[in-house]
Amino acid sequence: MHSIAEAEAATASQPLAQPSPGMGQGGISQAAPGNERSPAPANLPVLVDSHCHIVFRNFDDDLDEVAARWRQAGVCALVHACVEPGEIAAIRALADRFPELRYAVGVHPLDTQHWCDDTVAVLRQAAGSDPRVVAIGELGLDLFRERNLDRQLEALRPQLDLAVELGLPVIIHCRDAAEAMLAELTPRAAQGRLPRGVMHCWGGTPEEMEAFLALGLFISFSGTVTFPKAEAIQACARLVPADRYLVETDCPFLAPAPRRGKRNEPANVATVAAKVAELRAESLEAVALTSSRNAAALFGLPLHNV
Ligand SMILES: [Zn+2]
Ligand SMILES: [Zn+2]
Repeated sequence: MHSIAEAEAATASQPLAQPSPGMGQGGISQAAPGNERSPAPANLPVLVDSHCHIVFRNFDDDLDEVAARWRQAGVCALVHACVEPGEIAAIRALADRFPELRYAVGVHPLDTQHWCDDTVAVLRQAAGSDPRVVAIGELGLDLFRERNLDRQLEALRPQLDLAVELGLPVIIHCRDAAEAMLAELTPRAAQGRLPRGVMHCWGGTPEEMEAFLALGLFISFSGTVTFPKAEAIQACARLVPADRYLVETDCPFLAPAPRRGKRNEPANVATVAAKVAELRAESLEAVALTSSRNAAALFGLPLHNV
């Protein structure tokens, strides 16, 4: 995909496209007829919220204001996660409404009641019918809230296979399940059956991070990196290689400090990036550039000059 090549060819000395009127706020190349917006302030960091859920009902009343805030914050692209196929039509409608939005299709490990015999076919059809589908997910394992590992694996394995079949990356949700996830992914890597992907909303230790990095996966930091007791996550943010991390909100969940407990929204990815920058002793601009370039490379996002 040309945007990956662009991302890989880009160098740190190249400026990012700045949000400007009529160009999709920072580089999404598809114009949206009739979707006029005011220009964002100049010199913003160009950010990608690599994981959001604005399809949830708590955005019903004020989504235009939420979008205005993410554009003002410099968010030029968003990747919308999917927890079950019943959401896909509504997420696709959001992509029609917001041209900077791309999305995934998949079944979350806590939504396996939606997994049935034809789910792979449904996901395959959805991914094949819209080029704005850039990933399979979110999929994974969650042993924090549920103990139904076998059922979760029944939904996880075919989705990993589908991602390999379609050449798409995966968005991996892994909570209190690093050992089980590594047991699943490591043999796949040896067999050439592991898709590219990202460990989203990273919440593990540096040792676990190293194991997932060794499988070629990206690590994505959410608002949890701002929480005072998140020492392991903060250590990971310091240690992760520059070419392997993303930032995300996972909104409406996990609002970063000091808004913890409130509804989260994509604009707050700037707070996540600022915390990562502080931990890495880098500028916000550098972290925004790096994480946006990584997201563009992983998902094939059509960002200009990233
Ligand atoms: Zn998740
Ligand atoms: Zn999510």
